[in-house]
Amino acid sequence: MIALKRFLAFVLLLALFLTGCRAQAPEQTEFFAMDTLMNLKLWGDPDGKAAREVVQTINALASALSVTDAQSEIARLNETGSTALSEETAALLAAALKLSRRTDGAFDPTVYPLVRLWGFTGETQAVPGSAELQRALAAVGTENVLQSGQNVTLRNGAMLDFGGIAKGYAAEKCAKLLEAAGIEAALLSLGGNVQTVGTKPDGSAWAVGIADPENPTQAIATLTFTGSLALVTSGGYQRYFEEDGVRYHHILNPKTGYPARSGLASVTILAESGALADALSTALFVMGLDAAAEFWMGSDDFEAVFVTDGGKIYATQDAASLLGGCEFEVISR
Ligand code: AMP
Ligand code: MG
Repeated sequence: MIALKRFLAFVLLLALFLTGCRAQAPEQTEFFAMDTLMNLKLWGDPDGKAAREVVQTINALASALSVTDAQSEIARLNETGSTALSEETAALLAAALKLSRRTDGAFDPTVYPLVRLWGFTGETQAVPGSAELQRALAAVGTENVLQSGQNVTLRNGAMLDFGGIAKGYAAEKCAKLLEAAGIEAALLSLGGNVQTVGTKPDGSAWAVGIADPENPTQAIATLTFTGSLALVTSGGYQRYFEEDGVRYHHILNPKTGYPARSGLASVTILAESGALADALSTALFVMGLDAAAEFWMGSDDFEAVFVTDGGKIYATQDAASLLGGCEFEVISR
């Protein structure tokens, strides 16, 4: 009898333990890096070791890639015009140059002279004069970057800015790190960059909101799915200033030197690779809906959701199957 009671008590404890595990809440970490608030939710990291590794990894990347930290590899390259980069930064540059060619320069990592002129990396922003703008424009273009392995030389006053790809690359690197560490599930939110890893212990789907460009604290739509995915949003509402009643945002058209006015308020890219999703979110925002839809038709490595300035939502075929909470039009091949 006593043995049976003990056995039952043991079963009860085990059941409680297992339900406890299944309902397990994630460990949350919030920190500031790469000019933005970052939030990590990790399931299966009781001692916080993986979270610390993520924070360290992102801080190390920020120190290597920052344009404003004079000690960073990129700031030194911009300052001196020639340097040997670390293997990792050189590989990211090569990937960025490739994505620039693929998007016909809509994404361009040499956009820094323009970004700096508009003041988007500093304290004060202002519409530049046309002479200054022309001078900065003349320095922009990937033909001004000579890369041979880790050795890089910038011609013509060119300067690099990884602001359009760094957060997505960081999220991708951290996702790999978390998978290798055996984390059950994770949700990384690095500014407009979301990265999911694995499946939550309770098996429920991820639900990631797309910010309403008119009211960014509210979601205009939700993407629901399971498993690991990068979701990156570029939006004119994310960083901007106003002058004489006109809004100027931080996503520049490298061909005109002005903030891209393409009729889009935001672009969200879904892809396996965070770096790809990040670069393409910037590029497709610059392209506008029609060119972006055409670009998607010739690609097989991403899906997209577009919000127009008028608040209309368009989704590519596979993104549409994950989209809810709004009316939208489907872009099909
Ligand atoms: P994102 O938020 O990913 O769209 O990236 C915007 C950031 O990337 C800006 O703050 C700039 O630092 C930089 N940037 C702006 N326009 C471009 C562009 N056309 N291509 C590449 N980077 C850009
Ligand atoms: Mg981007």
